[in-house]
Amino acid sequence: MNDDPAPRSRQLFERAQAVTPGGVNSPVRAFHSVGGTPRFMVRGEGAYLWDADDNRYVDLVSSWGPMINGHAHPDVVRAVREAAAHGLSFGTPGVGEIDLAQEIIDRVEPVEQVRLVNSGTEAAMSAVRLARGFTGRQKIVKFAGCYHGHVDALLASAGSGVATLGLPTSPGVTGAQAADTIVLPYNDLDAVRRVFAEEGDQIACVITEAAAGNMGAVAPLPGFNEGLRAITRDAGALLIMDEVMTGFRVSAAGWYGIDGVAGDLYTFGKVMSGGLPAAAFGGRADVMAHLAPSGPVYQAGTLSGNPVAVAAGLANLRAADAEVYAALDRNSKRLGELLGSALTAAGVPHQVAFAANMVSVFFSETPVHNYEQAQAQQVWRYPAFFHELLRRGVYPPPSAFECWFVNAAMDDAAFEIIADALPHAARAAAAATAPEAGA
Ligand SMILES: *Cc1c(COP(=O)(O)O)cnc(C)c1O
Repeated sequence: MNDDPAPRSRQLFERAQAVTPGGVNSPVRAFHSVGGTPRFMVRGEGAYLWDADDNRYVDLVSSWGPMINGHAHPDVVRAVREAAAHGLSFGTPGVGEIDLAQEIIDRVEPVEQVRLVNSGTEAAMSAVRLARGFTGRQKIVKFAGCYHGHVDALLASAGSGVATLGLPTSPGVTGAQAADTIVLPYNDLDAVRRVFAEEGDQIACVITEAAAGNMGAVAPLPGFNEGLRAITRDAGALLIMDEVMTGFRVSAAGWYGIDGVAGDLYTFGKVMSGGLPAAAFGGRADVMAHLAPSGPVYQAGTLSGNPVAVAAGLANLRAADAEVYAALDRNSKRLGELLGSALTAAGVPHQVAFAANMVSVFFSETPVHNYEQAQAQQVWRYPAFFHELLRRGVYPPPSAFECWFVNAAMDDAAFEIIADALPHAARAAAAATAPEAGA
């Protein structure tokens, strides 16, 4: 019996490693923290992905968020085909850009104007530059475990792949680039108050994930976002709500639709891209007016507002009606319950954490409200848990520090596969052993 479930993926990974560092174009995809062969996916439809060996998986990553309607949704595919048939890029303004900006503005009340970019990284970088240009101040505040893309100044104590690989920050980021970044513990308003009391007049902005999703799902504690709003307003600093992950997933209006706390600036990506490279930042019109060519803060992009990407994003948002949001809520709750009952039955210490319909698992006895607590979990249980799910046709995130992303295409059949796989995975997690101290 051949017990390698993915021989083609293994061969492809060898080829990929020859031509690309680590064989991947974004680090977490390489399975470093879980081991084994990354699966090369060749097809997606609805709730499922198929790899190069024709193994089928229930996809619980959903391209890290964008695919809320499931893979290859007919409306999105049709919009992309139609747009592509009319030409791929013009380097001029286009109609779809107005429609996508309008759709975002209509959904998120505090957003009065939008600038389209190509990635969440670019959105965060540009929003921070604009905040500095608008306030004339240099310093920025971010929270440990929050990820805002791989912007130099925002990599300190970042979540996502930086957390997965256990990096404190990244070589190549100079002291000067990081010097103006103040990193505070998430959900700790007193720490924010102390910093603002000392140097509030030098702080351009606080950037936060509207709900943290890049250290696992860590919702803001009641009053945290409201507190950030009040403190920044009093100090003349801007509040940047990074909704690249939460935006248009957790509700039609993103996390703003959950807690109603208005940021000055917002960043979006993922869902609003429909799966093509597109992202956005936006917010108060008086702040956005400082952006070139209306104002002096420079920002640009050859492919920004690309007609095909814009068509995909618009179709994805338009397909996401009230029924889709109800399905996302239902499916994340159902997944969380299955995770919880399987791990409880196997006697594994765990927390099933929710931030609205984003869900994740911490192998921890106690609730997780910040990065330090997230890192204190028994991460060594995750590889065994992960691989048992993978073997049984479920594709979870290949990192203990990422959210699990449901989509609206998941049906009873998909949940049956998950329900059958989870008890085995939970037992594997229970049987995993901690590395020896100091090892
Ligand atoms: C994914 C993400 C980003 C980065 O977006 P990219 O498109 O990967 O550059 C930024 N902020 C948050 C909150 C994210 O989840």
